[in-house]
Amino acid sequence: SSFTASTPTQSPVRVVLRVRPFLPLEIESNSAEPRSIPCIALLDPDRGVGEEVTVQLKDQWSSRTECYKLDSFFGQGDYLGQIFNSEVGSVIPGVFRGLNATVFAYGATGSGKTYTMQARLQSTYNFLLILFRVIPLAMSAILSSCKDMEGYSVEIAYYEIYMDRCYDLLEPKAKEIMAMDDRDGRVQLKGLSWVPVNSMNEFNGVFDTGVQRRKVARTGLNDVSSRSHAVLSIAVTNGMVKGKLNLIDLAGNEDNRRTCNEGIRLQESAKINQSLFALSNVIYALNNNEPRIPYRESKLTRILQDSLGGTSRSLMIACLNPVSYPEAVHTVSLAARSR
Ligand code: ADP
Ligand code: MG
Repeated sequence: SSFTASTPTQSPVRVVLRVRPFLPLEIESNSAEPRSIPCIALLDPDRGVGEEVTVQLKDQWSSRTECYKLDSFFGQGDYLGQIFNSEVGSVIPGVFRGLNATVFAYGATGSGKTYTMQARLQSTYNFLLILFRVIPLAMSAILSSCKDMEGYSVEIAYYEIYMDRCYDLLEPKAKEIMAMDDRDGRVQLKGLSWVPVNSMNEFNGVFDTGVQRRKVARTGLNDVSSRSHAVLSIAVTNGMVKGKLNLIDLAGNEDNRRTCNEGIRLQESAKINQSLFALSNVIYALNNNEPRIPYRESKLTRILQDSLGGTSRSLMIACLNPVSYPEAVHTVSLAARSR
């Protein structure tokens, strides 16, 4: 019999934190007292590789502090390449062996979820800058692995979940797709389009068209915010072997006391918060080996059932705006309780 050295246990879903830099406006608007200290700090910078981290949230205006434990921390100076290399990239080899994986960007509106996952469309930056985002980095890693190995093909689907309904973003007018239970009680998205992709050029064309179809609306806090969960699914197939990587830009979690949402905005926000809470409950149940995983409590978790838990590996990137303490508490407490 073989004797293997113990390796650090890996939870089904890792929960890591990323803090975006201050934006120029955030520094200027507070020029009397420059904001140079983010409301969050890492408490144990000398921890070992792979060890959990403790972060401290601190309110600038009072002396309140709170501490939370997470799987990893990426501060304002970290580049996305590092998050990709140490966290996201490690799930890709499994996808080529037929396993599913999911990466979520979670956080309040304005915390950098979309920035982390994908380049902004209106951006006129050069191509290299645009590449340092999770979606293009993952896509190009998958395409280059395909070049190295025989017989693999890649297809993508891109859909959004808005108010618990599912819309195909690769179809004109973002056609609604019905989520139906199959014989095993698993949800299937019947008629969802899967588009073959052979190069980054092809991918960019298909994906950008989809991005433009996303639902956006005005809220009190931010000019335009994403009110839907956007799921990019990359399927890698070789004969009978089929793995899937889901890259998800979650809708922003919101504190309705602060956004002053009303009417439809309030309903959207209620749905968003409900589904994010359901997601957190599923992740918690998975990471704590609970006998029953509450997948059926939201459309989001039902659709992701085959890619969350089981043999799947997942990663939640909780994104933080460094300015807002209440927002940070809201985001980090949910992220930390998911572990
Ligand atoms: P969200 O999708 O969570 O609502 P965004 O990704 O749109 O947030 O980010 C909000 C703002 O912060 C945008 O102007 C974005 O360009 C900027 N931003 C986010 N993350 C970074 C970063 N790591 N470096 C520089 N700017 C960032
Ligand atoms: Mg966004």
